[in-house]
Amino acid sequence: CHVAFDPEMDAINREKRRIEHELRATLDAGAKQLKLQFQPLYTLPGETLLGVEALARWEHPELGNIRPDQFIPIAEETGMIREIGAWALRSACEAALHWPDIGISVNVSVLEFEDPNYVENVRTILHETGFDPGHLVLEVTETVMASGELSERILGELKELGVMIAIDDFGTGFSSLGRLRNLDVDIIKIDRIFIDQIDVSVRDRELVRAIIEFAHMAGMEATAEGVENASQLDCLRMIGCDNVQGFYYSRPIDAHLVDQLVLQRPIASGDR
Ligand code: C2E
Ligand code: MG
Ligand code: MG
Ligand code: MG
Repeated sequence: CHVAFDPEMDAINREKRRIEHELRATLDAGAKQLKLQFQPLYTLPGETLLGVEALARWEHPELGNIRPDQFIPIAEETGMIREIGAWALRSACEAALHWPDIGISVNVSVLEFEDPNYVENVRTILHETGFDPGHLVLEVTETVMASGELSERILGELKELGVMIAIDDFGTGFSSLGRLRNLDVDIIKIDRIFIDQIDVSVRDRELVRAIIEFAHMAGMEATAEGVENASQLDCLRMIGCDNVQGFYYSRPIDAHLVDQLVLQRPIASGDR
């Protein structure tokens, strides 16, 4: 069996190796090309600022802005995600020290989660930054639940630290509701593919309604991702969604703009 030379694949592989090489270089140089942006989350129905989600950004001097969808998978393949994850958590906690009373959500790769030192690393970062764990949300994907008892144990240990857990991109993985019910999860983040057509598709609306009802039944909150317009928001409000996030409210923004949001925010309306 021989594989024909495919110039397109060759170009993709070279690009991947370049990104891998450049990522290694910037991590070794103190991750100065990496930064976080923050996307606000709001409660419903009152639209109070609930918190922000930290999203990694990479500004490369020659390659320009490299999207997380491009470099996170490569970081996962190469194991560099552990360093990036620790950097993201520490940077997010340091930034969020300036934002009292709101939450900070940080994405966690399944690879970090499976690292035997993970819980200890989180504990150390919380301790060293002095950040209140009650304001930290760790976002994991459904993949995490595939690892069975391991994930149950780690989630339990994280909950003991006092942090909250969210299941990100909910509905795109394959978690069983039975398993989810047994896990100590606080928030379900409904993937934006289900929100996209919610204002025009009865099926999608009923599906999202069912997810929200399931979340409530299991003692969790439901957050809708990718809310882009007012009619989607109206639907979500009508079917009892707890929290919303999306371009309709704000794109991910720099830390100094979060400072302003926090200062301008009205006194909490008592949604939570
Ligand atoms: P995610 O955690 O599901 O984050 C939400 C993504 O959806 C973000 O993309 C955000 O910019 C985008 N988004 C938010 N609202 C809307 C909307 O209304 N419409 C549309 N079309 N998109 C919206 P981003 O920043 O490119 O990040 C992509 C993914 O990369 C994240 O998905 C997350 O899985 C991963 N990621 C980002 N930062 C980190 C990190 O520090 N660690 C890890 N492990 N993964 C990260
Ligand atoms: Mg996320
Ligand atoms: Mg998501
Ligand atoms: Mg995602």
